[in-house]
Amino acid sequence: MTRRTWAIAKVKENAGDGVLEVPSMAVLRYRTPAQLVSNFRRLWGVDPKLVCLPVVEHDGPLFEVDGLGGIPLSTYAPISNVLRGFEDAIQQFASMGIGIILSLSPNLSFIPGDGINVRDILGSATPQLCVANPRSGEVLAAILGTGIDIVREVCAKQPGKLQGAAIDATTLWPMGGSPGRVEATCFCAFCTEHFEEMAPGLLKKFRTFPNPWSLLLKPSDTGIAYIDELGPLATPEELVGLSRQRGYVDQFQSANEAVMLENANSLLRYIRIRHEQTMGSLAAIFDQAYHGLDDMPRRILFLEGERYNWTSGVWMEELDLSYPDTKGAYDEVWLNSNPSLLLRNIPFRVYMWRRSRYLISSFFDLAASATDPSRRAISGIARISEAHLKRMLDQRFHQMLGYGLNSEGALLSLPGRIDHQDSQMRLGFVAVSLDSDFGERFINQLNIVPGRADSDLQSSAGGIDPRLLQILMEQFQNTSDDN
Ligand SMILES: [Zn+2]
Repeated sequence: MTRRTWAIAKVKENAGDGVLEVPSMAVLRYRTPAQLVSNFRRLWGVDPKLVCLPVVEHDGPLFEVDGLGGIPLSTYAPISNVLRGFEDAIQQFASMGIGIILSLSPNLSFIPGDGINVRDILGSATPQLCVANPRSGEVLAAILGTGIDIVREVCAKQPGKLQGAAIDATTLWPMGGSPGRVEATCFCAFCTEHFEEMAPGLLKKFRTFPNPWSLLLKPSDTGIAYIDELGPLATPEELVGLSRQRGYVDQFQSANEAVMLENANSLLRYIRIRHEQTMGSLAAIFDQAYHGLDDMPRRILFLEGERYNWTSGVWMEELDLSYPDTKGAYDEVWLNSNPSLLLRNIPFRVYMWRRSRYLISSFFDLAASATDPSRRAISGIARISEAHLKRMLDQRFHQMLGYGLNSEGALLSLPGRIDHQDSQMRLGFVAVSLDSDFGERFINQLNIVPGRADSDLQSSAGGIDPRLLQILMEQFQNTSDDN
C-alpha cells in the first residue's frame, strides 16, 4: 500500500532559495564546503543556492586591505590545511555552482585608537566602530570592497557569481545600564553634532537619568528589557500608554502625564533621526564599496525581526514604507520571523535563528575579546579568570545554539509566500551552519589570554586555604555571570 502525501510535504517547494550562512571562517576549519552543503541538504531537504561568507572576523581582516597595513590578520585568515585563505573558500563554493554573498560585520574592535568608536553616555569609548562616522564607513567600505574585488578575480570566468553583500546591522548601537540608569549610545562627537544639526538640544535630554529612553528601556541586574511594539505612526500618547502598561514609567520619580508626553515626543524624534542617520550611513558604505562596478550585487541588511530594532537603530516599518522611494539603496533584508511584523514592500529572507544574527555576532565578538591581549587587560572582561571565561563561552555558545531553528519543519511557520500573491514578498530562507560539535572544537582551540583575575589569583593565593579560595571564586563567578 502506498502512503498518501500531505500538504506540508510541499514545504520545500515553497521555501524559496536557501542561503547557507557561514558566520565565521572558523566554521570552515572544521567542516569542508562539501560537508556543509550536504549537511544543509540533510536538514532542509534542498541544496543551497547561495553561500554567505564573511569578509572580516571580530579579531581582524581575512585578507590584506590597502590602508589597513600593520593590523594583524584574523586567526582564521589561513583557514585550514586545505583552504589556505579567503580566495580558496570562494573558489570551492563557486566550483560547486553556488552563488556568493559576502557579509560584513561593522562592530569591529581591532582598528587602533578610539577616535572613530562608539561613545557611551559618560563619554567612554566602546571597542566598536561608530558606523555614522564617515571615517569608519570608509574603513568598512574598503574591507567589503576589497572582498568584492577578490571574488571578481577568483570568479573572473564565471560572471555574475557574486550575487550580493550583506551588512550585519543587528549590533550597531550597543546599550546597557543598571536599574534606573539606561545607557544607550552613541554620543561620539560626530553623532552629537549630527543630532545638534537635526534637532538642537534633543540629545542633551538623553544625557541625564532617567532620560526619555527609560519609557521603553528598562535595565535590570541581568540585562536590559525593551519594548519594540512601536511603529513609525505611533503617537506620544500611545508610547506613554505602552510604557505605563509595562510599568516602565516607574523609573521616573513622577509619572506626570504632561512630563511623560514631553519625554515621549523627544524619544520619537530621537528614534526617527537615528533611523535616518543609520540608513544613510549603511547606504554610504554600499555606495563606496560598489563604486565603479559594472553589475551591482544585491544590497542586503541583516536585521532583527522587531518593529523597532534598538541595537540597529532601525524602524522596520519605516524601512518598508520608504522602500518604493529608496529603491536601489537596499534590495532585501534578512530577519527572523515575527508574526506581528508585516513587510509589504521590501523583499526579505527569513533568517532561521531567533533574534537573527544578534547573539551569533555577540558570541564571536566575546571569543575575539577573550583572545585579544589588550581587551583582556583593559576592558570589562579583564577581571574574569581564564577558566571562567572558557565556561562563559561554552555557556553562551549553547544558549545561542538553543535559538537556532535547524530543520525543514521550521520552514512551515514562515510568513508570506514565494509566489508573491501574498502581500509579503519572501525570497527564501537563510540557514546558519553552526552545531554543538563546532562549538566544542572552536572553544577548545581558542588561545584565551590570562586576565587580571588570573594574576591576582596567583599573587594572593599563597596563604589562603584552598577551600576558602574556591568559595570566593564561586562567589566572584556568580556575580560576573550577571553581566
Ligand atoms: Zn557615533
